[in-house]
Amino acid sequence: MVLLKGIRKHFGSHEVLKGIDLTVERGKIVSIIGPSGSGKSTLLRSINMLEPPNAGEIWLNGELVNQPLTGRAYETHINAVRQKMGKVFQQFNLFPHLTALQNLTIGPIKLKGVSPAEAKVQAMELLAKVGLADKADAYPARLSGGQKQRVAIARALAMRPQVMLFDEATSALDPELVDEVNLVMKQLAAEQMTMLIVTHEMNFAAEVSDWVLFMEDGLVVEQGPPEQVLKNPVMARTQSFLRKHL
Ligand code: ATP
Ligand code: MG
Repeated sequence: MVLLKGIRKHFGSHEVLKGIDLTVERGKIVSIIGPSGSGKSTLLRSINMLEPPNAGEIWLNGELVNQPLTGRAYETHINAVRQKMGKVFQQFNLFPHLTALQNLTIGPIKLKGVSPAEAKVQAMELLAKVGLADKADAYPARLSGGQKQRVAIARALAMRPQVMLFDEATSALDPELVDEVNLVMKQLAAEQMTMLIVTHEMNFAAEVSDWVLFMEDGLVVEQGPPEQVLKNPVMARTQSFLRKHL
């Protein structure tokens, strides 16, 4: 379970997150929607400490993520925590000099001490799961955007994360490649993976989410089940955002 309490983040005098509270129960899917610049990416980046918050608490399955540590202890703690959170961003960020298979095995081998043979078996299972077993030996340059993103998801899963963070995983893709990635995400949802999804795709959010958060200007304006927030929003800001995005 992910628990956020009063998350605040500023860049200089610009306050980008103004106190965000959120609970994501194990196995639930929470989607975050909102206009450009509202702080959605910053919130996801805060959760995995790419942008440590200036105030508030982040909890992952009972462990305080943003502990007041310094130096070596901080690095060790952050690395351990990050391994428990899989992240998939808009840009695929695969290692270009490694094959699809090697992209999946390097983390478990280097960071978790998994044997190369075992890592390979697990990686092949994951590639099969995202429909890319036949691309195991392909380098990223030889893959389509949708295939790259599916490898990126499989790579994140290879670390056996406790939660998956998606930041507009499909928005850099050609429209005809979006479905294949959404399908993989739906499959994960069906398997009860805990997920936080930033998306501009309202139909997808409506389909997969247990809970939807509408953010604007660093604040949660409205939240609730998708049939409320997406179909029957109470707040005028949510209504006007959705009119532009449906
Ligand atoms: P989009 O839908 O366009 O992806 P977003 O909701 O993800 O938008 P963020 O990327 O979180 O928005 O940005 C929120 C605000 O924080 C923006 O005004 C942005 O310019 C600012 N911001 C984000 N990262 C930084 C940074 N590293 N330094 C300074 N300002 C930043
Ligand atoms: Mg963003």
